[in-house]
Amino acid sequence: MHIVYYCRHCKTYLGSIDSARVSYDDLGFTNLSDQEYEEILEYHAEDQTTYVKTVCEFCETALQQNPYLLLTNSPIQ
Ligand SMILES: [Zn+2]
Repeated sequence: MHIVYYCRHCKTYLGSIDSARVSYDDLGFTNLSDQEYEEILEYHAEDQTTYVKTVCEFCETALQQNPYLLLTNSPIQ
C-alpha cells in the first residue's frame, strides 16, 4: 500500500507511507465518517496510491491568523 500525504491548500507534499503492513485501520481511516473519508482520501487506481489531503503547518498557521482564507476554497463566488 502506498499512501501520500499532501496539503489540501498549497498542495505541498508532506510525506508518504509505503508498506504492505500498514492498513487503513492502523492509520485511523476506518474511524472516519463516510463524508470525512470522501473529503480526505483519494484513491488513484492507476498508480495504486491513496492520497491523503491534510493541512501543512504553514497553512494551519496562516488559517489561524487569517480565518477568512478558508473562504477561498468555497465554491460560492
Ligand atoms: Zn499548505
